[in-house]
Amino acid sequence: MNPTPILPPAMLGILGGGQLGRMFAAAAKTMGYGVTVLDPDPNAPAAAFADRHLCAPFDDAAALAELAKCAAVTTEFENVNADAMRELARHTIVSPSGDCVAVAQNRILEKARIRAAGLQTAPYQAVKSSDDLSENSAALLPGILKTATLGYDGKGQIRVKTLAEAKAAFAELGGVECVLEKMVDLRGEISVVVCRLNSENVCTYDPAENIHENGILAYSIVPARLSAEIQQQAQQMAVRLADELDYVGVLAVEMFVVGDTQKLVVNEIAPRPHNSGHHTIGACAASQFQQQVRLMCGLPPADTRLLSPCCMANILGDVWGENGSEPNWLPLQSDARAHLHLYGKKAARPGRKMGHFTVFADDADTALQQAQKLHSLL
Ligand code: ATP
Ligand code: MG
Repeated sequence: MNPTPILPPAMLGILGGGQLGRMFAAAAKTMGYGVTVLDPDPNAPAAAFADRHLCAPFDDAAALAELAKCAAVTTEFENVNADAMRELARHTIVSPSGDCVAVAQNRILEKARIRAAGLQTAPYQAVKSSDDLSENSAALLPGILKTATLGYDGKGQIRVKTLAEAKAAFAELGGVECVLEKMVDLRGEISVVVCRLNSENVCTYDPAENIHENGILAYSIVPARLSAEIQQQAQQMAVRLADELDYVGVLAVEMFVVGDTQKLVVNEIAPRPHNSGHHTIGACAASQFQQQVRLMCGLPPADTRLLSPCCMANILGDVWGENGSEPNWLPLQSDARAHLHLYGKKAARPGRKMGHFTVFADDADTALQQAQKLHSLL
């Protein structure tokens, strides 16, 4: 099946109106499409760029019926109701599929699919009840107990050293389904963004090297400081996973670089553009948000080529003053090779992603150093 591509000025719909939806909407509007956003937040960041904001809960039947009138619908956050996406798919074109979103929402399903694709994960077991934590789990200690659903930015996970700690952690997480994952010898974290229409039309961006602070992504640098061979391997793995899922749209694959041999294991996937792909706005021939628009419209992905080494830095609410005063934007805005993106969020809270900036340089190390310096001046 190769349906006729959807062309401007068709109306495109998106479930979720956060920063990812905002950057999607900006890309879609630039290409001449209309945008309808469904998000219950009256101040949803994406609304500023949308033609229409359906301000209603994500499971609101009337709002979903309106969204279903769009020529195609996509999503920007993974905790969207997969059933709502399946229902929408009965009326319009939906990508990624509800089935793919459901896999990404549940670490147990997700890890099984990663292995089904012939790829490695960290050693793990599913933990559905306290009894599942037995002597057999000892090989996974020290480990991390992670809730199967609803985790993000390092939330919903507890590091454990002993079986007793694992059982206590399971109770502390509410006795919900979890995975116990062995702590791996982490040497680095990378992510690959895949753009896939079908098995013939698929490509990836260069891997981003991700640096976290307090469990939240702080910097992504591209090119990653890894051999060309390992980078290529990461890209091939990401495509293999997208093929396994018969994925349509933009898919982010997070990987760990493990041990002296720099073995790649897949950590998790996100069925949408990713924070570590924000540099693609400006640093690549086409951004991950342009790709999201193209793929949902049935168009092949555009060129992913990296045009310049760069570093993306997240801007969290922490850099606002306690009285809500703005950070000092002047040094950043005065730098000819730094590009600021703010999401238009009303309230700055610690840990909340308020914006990001991308620094271009002649090599990734220099870009990282300059980004760290500019960040410290905010
Ligand atoms: P995010 O939303 O930021 O991707 P998350 O809540 O989904 O985070 P994970 O990505 O699973 O959680 O884990 C958060 C971080 O904890 C990882 O980026 C990594 O630094 C560390 N971590 C997770 N699992 C392991 C592991 N098995 N071994 C070593 N470190 C790990
Ligand atoms: Mg993660």
